[in-house]
Amino acid sequence: MRILIVEDEPALREGLVDLLTAADHQVVAEAEGKTAVERGTGEVFDLVLLDLMLPDLDGVEVCRRLRKARPSLPILMLTARGSEDDKVAGFEAGADDYLTKPFAVRELLARIDALRRRAAAAPAEPEVIEADGCVLDLGRLEASREGEVVSLTPREAGIVRWLYRQRNRAVPRGELLERIWGSSGDLQTRTVDMTIANLRQKIERDPSQPLIVVTVTGAGYAWGGR
Ligand code: CA
Repeated sequence: MRILIVEDEPALREGLVDLLTAADHQVVAEAEGKTAVERGTGEVFDLVLLDLMLPDLDGVEVCRRLRKARPSLPILMLTARGSEDDKVAGFEAGADDYLTKPFAVRELLARIDALRRRAAAAPAEPEVIEADGCVLDLGRLEASREGEVVSLTPREAGIVRWLYRQRNRAVPRGELLERIWGSSGDLQTRTVDMTIANLRQKIERDPSQPLIVVTVTGAGYAWGGR
């Protein structure tokens, strides 16, 4: 894989370059957020390893800009901080996964492998769902309403896909965490709520009165589109 590493700490950056090069990846490293955005949007990568704490441009902002330009690019956030707020901010900005420093080499390689498999398993055929006037193109990670197109993150598209498939029942938050995030681990259901709030801003006619992804009190979320 071609991997972009964004890390300002020289020792860690060099360590990651050595480690991933040894694992047969092609590696490019950047120490600053702005150059990372230029590189990540201008060149093609299979994965970005992104430090949250950068001197010039916050990792969350870097993630947001990369995601906007490259909706399906897998982004793995690295951080020394482990608070739930940081995780939620990272996921909100479109990160696909999250690893707290210090992490075990084996765990990093396993996460990279999981993201690679997930990207490879993404369906190539068009996957288009129309709901309440919104056209959701899950293959292209796009939603459009009245000609206005917005990008969806892989997780947002995953939520839409899963709720649509399970459209005869309410889906509990824990099930979405397991299905879409891959593990419940140390994530909280608030992560699901925040991601869905963001998704509604993109796809609902009136996000305060959602008709596509509806809340089922005491049960979770359900597909409401018709
Ligand atoms: Ca840092």
